[in-house]
Amino acid sequence: MLLKDKVAVITGSASGIGKEIAFEYAKEGARVVIADLQLEAAQATAAEIVKAGGQAMGVAMDVTSEEQVDKGVADVVAAWGGVDILISNAGIQIISPIVDLSLDKWKKMLAIHLDGAFLTTRACMRAMIGGGKGGSVIFMGSVHSHEASPLKAPYVAAKHGLIGLAKVVAKEGVKHNIRSNVICPGFVRTPLVDKQIPEQAKELGISEADVIKTVMLKDTVDGEFTTTEDVARTAVFLASFPTNALTGQSVVVSHGWFMQ
Ligand code: NAD
Repeated sequence: MLLKDKVAVITGSASGIGKEIAFEYAKEGARVVIADLQLEAAQATAAEIVKAGGQAMGVAMDVTSEEQVDKGVADVVAAWGGVDILISNAGIQIISPIVDLSLDKWKKMLAIHLDGAFLTTRACMRAMIGGGKGGSVIFMGSVHSHEASPLKAPYVAAKHGLIGLAKVVAKEGVKHNIRSNVICPGFVRTPLVDKQIPEQAKELGISEADVIKTVMLKDTVDGEFTTTEDVARTAVFLASFPTNALTGQSVVVSHGWFMQ
């Protein structure tokens, strides 16, 4: 077991990529915190993990709320004695050309992806420093941390921003034995992506099949979606990596869509 008894706070883990990471981490022996806006779904996910023999708890957390983030992390520390791993993963997508995008929607995207990453990082770094054992901070970036696509301005801006944040965490964290990296997946079939297929089809005036073929998977080497399992395995690798050799990096998991 690569993560035996490590306490992992995973935001947005009641669905999609975060949920898969939670299951994979539990299999590797971690105690996982399902921190999500949707409390019922978070508790149901935690219950499923416990039923399968793992250790998990559901926590209500809107990552844009300083109060909820600080309270959620304090509750974890009180229950399980500290935090070893943060996966800052909660996210949404909004499809719109810049000229039609409202300031409110722009701010909402940046709040969830960047304020959320900052607030959860701050709370978890404080807990890691307090515990004196170091830790691993992993951000869920995207190929859009490196590349741009039309209709996704705030998402692309926020995902690029996470790379900068991870580099600072790597530099500030090293004296506390805290490492930080970004996982950059290509398209993964989750509710977030399923929702945008019809939206992109409408905006671009093409069929849904063409959105998949000519937009989403066009630049992959094999025309395949990345899977939640691919991302979860990368998250295990990064969190269990034993030294500071791997910090301040981004790992692209995208069937070759983006090559560094
Ligand atoms: P998803 O919609 O399946 O899950 C997102 C989860 O985040 C949901 O459980 C939702 O309740 C939660 N969430 C949303 N806003 C929140 C908030 N304010 N506070 C707490 N939780 C909140 O999406 P997913 O595809 O699993 O995406 C997870 C992450 O992976 C996102 O950061 C996304 O940008 C990133 N990502 C996804 C893909 C993809 O193709 N699916 C590709 C690259 C990166």
